[in-house]
Amino acid sequence: MLANKTAVVTGSTSGIGLAIAKAMAGEGANIVINGFGDANAIEKERSGIESEYGVKCVYSGADMTKPDEIAAMIADADKEFGAVDVLVNNAGIQHVSPIDEFPIEKWDQIIAINLSSSFHTIRAALPGMKRKGWGRIINTASAHALVASPFKSAYVAAKHGIAGLTKTVALEVAQQKITVNAICPGYVWTPLVEAQIPDTMKARNMTEEQVKRDVLLAAQPTKEFVTVDQVAAMAIFLCSDAASSITGTMLQMDGGWTAQ
Ligand code: NAD
Repeated sequence: MLANKTAVVTGSTSGIGLAIAKAMAGEGANIVINGFGDANAIEKERSGIESEYGVKCVYSGADMTKPDEIAAMIADADKEFGAVDVLVNNAGIQHVSPIDEFPIEKWDQIIAINLSSSFHTIRAALPGMKRKGWGRIINTASAHALVASPFKSAYVAAKHGIAGLTKTVALEVAQQKITVNAICPGYVWTPLVEAQIPDTMKARNMTEEQVKRDVLLAAQPTKEFVTVDQVAAMAIFLCSDAASSITGTMLQMDGGWTAQ
């Protein structure tokens, strides 16, 4: 479905972004992966994508807090592949703290990575999509784009901001065959989530099952994690012709969380 197209996926060295990058490669797209991590591990993923799916995959180490590095990442993709057809804004971090103790630099960092980076990537990638008369912008938002939880002020503010950005850009390009949507997952089983379990077991004197069910999945009625492959499948669907009328939406994949 995506042969001869190029997808840039920010924050794709692990978790949801990596699953989306692989799924897009599986559809034949050339891929730009991005994010931080061990250089050897990233190179293994990059070359693995090329050999497994027979596409080109390049790595950009652009820091999503730096507008000039973001612009260079998109310009490099334009130069290498002609244009960015699919842009997935996925990089994100979290910090949990009461607002009166929230470190100022953490607030700035979360707003930069989880919100402003999407402004910068979209701003740089849209001219190429307009030129080609086709494009897909997919933002990994969160259930926290729609509802709040205490102690996550920066994350919730940034994700609500992504909802506004998604809707606004969708309207601006509605007649140019470019769709703009946000996927809003609840808790997704990623290394980030898995890593929280041992400490929480100790802190709360709970079993692994209790931590999953009563802490992590407290708000998720299905009591099951969303999987990265489910999120990736939604991203692929959004790239299809069948999804060409879906734009400006917040697509909840949260096991019923935001239905409450
Ligand atoms: P993750 O930690 O596995 O992946 C985050 C990615 O972002 C990594 O590749 C990391 O290197 C990259 N990154 C972090 N800071 C960066 C920076 N300054 N510049 C470039 N890349 C940077 O996390 P994940 O769970 O896969 O999260 C991916 C997205 O999904 C985030 O936007 C997150 O908010 C969202 N999300 C996650 C969940 C969940 O439960 N895991 C739920 C809803 C939404």
